[in-house]
Amino acid sequence: MEKKNIDWANLGFGYIMTDQRYVSNYRHGAWDDGCLTTDATVTMSECAGVLQYAQTCFEGLKAYTTEKGQIVIFRPDLNGQRMEDSARRLEMPVFPKERFVDAVIQTVRANAAYVPPFGTGATLYIRPYMFGSSAVIGVKPAEEYQFRVFTTPVGPYFKGGAKPLTICVSDFDRAAPHGTGHIKAGLNYAMSLHAIVTAHENGFDENMYLDAATRTKVEETGGANFIFVTKDNKVVTPKSDSILPSITRRSLIYVAKEYLGLEVEEREVYLDEVKDFAECGLCGTAAVISPVGKVVDHDKEYVFASGMEKMGPITQKLYDTLTGIQMGHLEAPEGWIQVVE
Ligand SMILES: *Cc1c(COP(=O)(O)O)cnc(C)c1O
Repeated sequence: MEKKNIDWANLGFGYIMTDQRYVSNYRHGAWDDGCLTTDATVTMSECAGVLQYAQTCFEGLKAYTTEKGQIVIFRPDLNGQRMEDSARRLEMPVFPKERFVDAVIQTVRANAAYVPPFGTGATLYIRPYMFGSSAVIGVKPAEEYQFRVFTTPVGPYFKGGAKPLTICVSDFDRAAPHGTGHIKAGLNYAMSLHAIVTAHENGFDENMYLDAATRTKVEETGGANFIFVTKDNKVVTPKSDSILPSITRRSLIYVAKEYLGLEVEEREVYLDEVKDFAECGLCGTAAVISPVGKVVDHDKEYVFASGMEKMGPITQKLYDTLTGIQMGHLEAPEGWIQVVE
C-alpha cells in the first residue's frame, strides 16, 4: 500500500480529512449494520438532541506502525467498554464494544495510507463518537442516534523533546460528586473551555482541578489524569469517582508494578501534599505522559525536584516502558496490542 504524500514529522494536532469513515444509525430501537462511507458530513434535524441538549459522548485512540511494520492499536476494547459506560450515563443506546472494536479496525484499514510510518513519531488519531440525531425539544433522550468513527493523522506530540509544563490550580470546577466527570462526554469539555482559555491567558499550560465538594483534593486536568512519584520512588495516582478512568493511567500503573517493580498507591491525594512529591506527569492517549515541572496555587509555587528541563527519572522509565510495549520492542501483556494489518 502506498502512503499518502504527507510531511509526517511536521504534522500538528489538527483535523485532516481522510478517505473513509464508519457510520451506523440507531432507529426503531436497533442499530443498523453500519458501513464505511466517503461522506465526511452529517445531515440531521435542526432540533437534534445533540444540538439542543448536548447528548453526545466520544472516545480517542491511536493507530501507529510498529518497528516490524505492522499497523496496530492499543487496548481498543477498553475504549469500547468506556463508551458503553458513557452511553448508559447519558441515556443513549449502547453501541456494543465488540462492534466498536470492529468499526475502529475497519476504519483504520480503510485509511491505512494515512497511518504514519514507523519512526516519524506521528500517529493516526481515531475518533469514535455518538450523538442524539432526532428532534428533541421537551427535555428527554433522543429516539435516533448516530455512531461514527473517523481518523486523522496527527504529528509527534513532543517536537524537540518533552518540556515540563507549568500548571495552575483552577478556580473553576471540572466535575461534581455524582456528576459526569467519569464519562467521556462532550459536555465536560464545553464547560472546561472557559477555564483553559483563562489558564492560557494567565500563562499556564494546563489546569489542575480540585474536588468540587471540598476543594482540597487533586482530581485531574481537562483531558489527562495525574501520576505523582514520591521521593522514595512510589507511584501515586488520585482516586476519585469524578475522574475519567484514563486507559493510559491504568496501563502505566500496571507497567509500574509488573515491569518496573515499583510500589503503586491509588488513593485520595491532597493539594497539601503536592509539594512533597518528586515528580509529576499528566497521562492520556495523546502524549502518553507529559511531565509537569511546576504547580502554581495562587501565591504559592511548587517546583518538582525533576525541574523544568526534562522528565523525572521514574516518569521517563514509565514512558519508555509503555511506549516500548506499544511500539513492539518490549513484550506486551496479553490482549494489549490489536493488530490491524
Ligand atoms: C480522555 C481523557 C483522559 C485520558 O484518557 P486515555 O484513555 O488515557 O486517553 C483523561 N481525562 C479526561 C477528562 C479525558 O477526557
